[in-house]
Amino acid sequence: MRLIFIYMNKFEALGLSEAIIKAVNEMGFETPSEVQEKAIPILLEKETDIVALAQTGTGKTAAFGFPLIEKVDSESRITQGLILSPTRELCLQITNELKNYSKFSKGLRTVAIYGGASIHDQAKEIKRGAQIIVATPGRMQDMINRKMVDISNIGYCVLDEADEMLNMGFYEDITAILSHTPEDKSTWLFSATMPREVSTIAKRFMHDPVEITVGHKNTGSENVSHEYYVVNSRDRYAALKRLADANPDIFSVIFCRTKRDTQKVAENLIEDGYNAAALHGDLSQNQRDLVMKSFRNRQIQMLVATDVAARGIDVNDITHVINYQLPDEIETYTHRSGRTGRAGKNGVSMVIVSKSELRKIKTVERIIKQKFEEKEIPSGEEICQVQLFHLANDIAKAEIDHEIDSYLPSINEVLKDFSKEELIKKFFSVEFSRFHNYYKKAKDLNTVGGESRGDSRGSDGSTRYFINVGEKDGFDWMRLKDFLKETLDLGRDAVSRVDVKESFSFFNTDSEHQDNILAIFEDFKLEGRKVNIEISKDSGRSRGGGRRRRDNNSGGGFKGKRRSDGFKPRGKGRRDNDSGGDRGGSGRRDRRKRSDRR
Ligand code: AMP
Repeated sequence: MRLIFIYMNKFEALGLSEAIIKAVNEMGFETPSEVQEKAIPILLEKETDIVALAQTGTGKTAAFGFPLIEKVDSESRITQGLILSPTRELCLQITNELKNYSKFSKGLRTVAIYGGASIHDQAKEIKRGAQIIVATPGRMQDMINRKMVDISNIGYCVLDEADEMLNMGFYEDITAILSHTPEDKSTWLFSATMPREVSTIAKRFMHDPVEITVGHKNTGSENVSHEYYVVNSRDRYAALKRLADANPDIFSVIFCRTKRDTQKVAENLIEDGYNAAALHGDLSQNQRDLVMKSFRNRQIQMLVATDVAARGIDVNDITHVINYQLPDEIETYTHRSGRTGRAGKNGVSMVIVSKSELRKIKTVERIIKQKFEEKEIPSGEEICQVQLFHLANDIAKAEIDHEIDSYLPSINEVLKDFSKEELIKKFFSVEFSRFHNYYKKAKDLNTVGGESRGDSRGSDGSTRYFINVGEKDGFDWMRLKDFLKETLDLGRDAVSRVDVKESFSFFNTDSEHQDNILAIFEDFKLEGRKVNIEISKDSGRSRGGGRRRRDNNSGGGFKGKRRSDGFKPRGKGRRDNDSGGDRGGSGRRDRRKRSDRR
């Protein structure tokens, strides 16, 4: 007997047709994500209801989008599939994704309907024939009432981000919309969390649904590590700036509890020279669209948002989520942290807390079933080191602009008496001294017993080192620890507090090894490159365990766009010192009305 091996890619193995495989290849998807692997074969094979618990960023749009495209008849112009999504942003994103997925599915039309745009234009689009409609509940209900859509023949209804829709008060709209759909349709419900309201919808409108879970119920993404920083409430804003400065490539969403705090923090950041903007419900739709456009284009590095306004933000490559304040409802934390760590990338979710809020961290840990790592707000010294090497790396990577060539003879003349080393020092002094001056007297913001520690850190008898190797040399914290233990010939636990950044790292050893370590690295080469080691003035003391952060600065690729870039307190520029207290939010405002949270 002859065996014939037919090569199938992993998407073909799920049972998808050639048209979708072609689109998948064009989009560069290589492997199905977990939710796709679990949901697609079931949805393709049978007509069934499904409840899928999956975070945003896990590939869930394709998990329902591929089967939906396969199932609708593109030769008929009748609307056969309806997708309800909580926000206009998400509605447009789903529509875009579906259009990409169905690029080679001839005759298939997907139309988005959402508030804030002409209802008549949308009605016209539907009239032209739309087998799939993606809608926000409010506008859908409106169009049903005006008889502008007919969903009485749909075979499939997808409730995307069901928990968000219910959170936003769309229960009535959803039930009204579903009452216009056929009894025997299939309902596919996707939700990141499973609060009681979602179970109620599932029980009331679904028949014997298949349940699939990606990760654990209510838990955050595996790709996100969680950190918290304990500071005095008055130092919250200063702490935020330090976290941004210690991560020069940060591309982040900063969550505040109220519209007022959101606006204030954004204004302060802008005034202090950061590329920041606010996103909240007091902005017009037009203003919000502009902010989102700039954020997507990376012109904004720090988007300060309320929870409600940030719903549906579906931007990949967000490196950090910063909880300027913890949310009132702890479940909301899952949504916040789910904005990072998307599409297989790593992300960090940071929480700035005061001592009195510390117990909330334990509650969040229980809900997300993940541990937080307690970290320290970086010292001015540490930030200067980070920024200095970031600048050096930027220079090393920069493409030469030949516009300058014609000026070179005169520039050479001015600089002819300096050696290369002197020139580098001078260059860095010009670029860096303002930053250094800003941070040189910066106080320690970490609290011990409720007080800032000031500059008098307690010594634990260890020395912290800076070393010029990092992720780009193939190290993560474990590999670097192994490398150091081997190179320094030290015992198992002699190297601690290893913190690996993109192109450099920090670690601690017992101070007694200091001279020996400096001697070993005096003339040390790694694959032909000189490895430098220096003593850092910061102790890098980290109190408490938890998961180690996996990736400090994933993503990036937008260097130089942040106005300050950590170095340039231009114009009015930065305030003299970051110890001036919190101008954003204090605990006093905690019990603000709900209406201030959009
Ligand atoms: P979603 O969870 O559907 O919002 O997807 C998040 C992002 O991941 C989107 O930009 C998708 O285009 C992308 N994506 C979805 N499935 C895959 C896959 N199998 N491989 C790579 N990227 C994917």
